Amino acid sequence: MIYLDNSATTPVLDEVIDEMLPYFSNEFGNPSTLYKLGQESKKALEKARKQIAETINGKPEEIIFTSGGSESDNMAIKGIAFKNKNKGKHIITSQIEHPAVKNTLSSLEGLGFEVTYLPVYNNGIVKIEDVESAIRDDTILITIMHGNNEIGTIQPISEIGKLAKEKGIKFHTDAVQTFGKLPIDVEEMNIDLLSMSSHKIYGPKGVGALYLRKNTKITPLIDGGGQENGLRSGTENIPGIVGFGKAAEIANNNLNENHEKFTKISNMIIDRVLEEIPKSYLNGDIDNRLPNIINFRFSAIEGESLILLLSGKGIYASTGSACSSKKLQASPILQALGLPDVDIHGSLRLSLGIKNSIEDVDFIVNSIKEVVERLREMSPLWNNEEEYSNGICESKGSCRRDFNV
Ligand SMILES: *Cc1c(COP(=O)(O)O)cnc(C)c1O
Repeated sequence: MIYLDNSATTPVLDEVIDEMLPYFSNEFGNPSTLYKLGQESKKALEKARKQIAETINGKPEEIIFTSGGSESDNMAIKGIAFKNKNKGKHIITSQIEHPAVKNTLSSLEGLGFEVTYLPVYNNGIVKIEDVESAIRDDTILITIMHGNNEIGTIQPISEIGKLAKEKGIKFHTDAVQTFGKLPIDVEEMNIDLLSMSSHKIYGPKGVGALYLRKNTKITPLIDGGGQENGLRSGTENIPGIVGFGKAAEIANNNLNENHEKFTKISNMIIDRVLEEIPKSYLNGDIDNRLPNIINFRFSAIEGESLILLLSGKGIYASTGSACSSKKLQASPILQALGLPDVDIHGSLRLSLGIKNSIEDVDFIVNSIKEVVERLREMSPLWNNEEEYSNGICESKGSCRRDFNV
């Protein structure tokens, strides 16, 4: 099996499991209790907080543990919105945010907030000038993701952070895909709130964290016993948090080495696919991207059939984000690149993980080639290529056959 869906989730590392195990049984204490058993859990909790803080140059007291990336996004965005609703109701974001951000913003729109969705053009990257001109007197938050989960493009976070700071606007970034994969420095990048998740970095599912800059006030979403500095009540998921801390430490230690390895493997895959498969394209930006995410599109085939045939060969990939692939609707992220639906449906996302190696490249590329060829043989679109490239597409107005970044 070759698992190429590491942006959807990753397996938990053995070292991480070993670290977690005692906290399910012997070390089961509640960290809010004063006796020794509870204090051992408290110690484990604070150690993990330090491990997470260190990977982003934050302070331990600026880390709030949550149930994952989705909760962190909700907490950051709703937390800032509710706290500042008397100051302003305008929020700036991009057109390619994860549903955890996008749908949170939709909820806020229902409550009277106004959201500006910035375009990402055909390379999948926002322009800083657009961010600047979208800012209004009543803008209370800019939320723009760091690395995109479908196409891997990296946004100009440092520039946005600098601008937000100058204008006195809070800046949140969903860094679920980049945390533990790219260097992140919340001070240098002027980030006020940053979302992280454990299961994308070989930690357990159902745990994550929000970085919240000191003196940044938010309204909590979960009220109760006042855990996590009163910002996220509920008895902490100690085994999960311990595992997340360990996973973050390991990811951070191997960050450069993994980055180099993914760059090498993905460059090989991209070069070969674009060269050896006719009418194949890379979605996104060739330079400004996470090296572990590759998003191709192939003319005249369906991504879903591609996924099925590849899984028959033991290769597990996806058409886009795990969240939208079941719905069979065109990916809003690829739509934001200006691609027509007919092209979007032929997309394939490969997301690499630490278990993949250079040795896998031949098998991966050859399998994709074979499967694409087979599907095209059956495709009326492909067999009528003349019509496809000159008729159907052009009549839809925006075929962009020249767009092959
Ligand atoms: C996976 C993901 C999330 C959601 O994280 P969960 O821990 O699964 O809730 C949010 N944002 C991005 C960019 C993601 O890739």
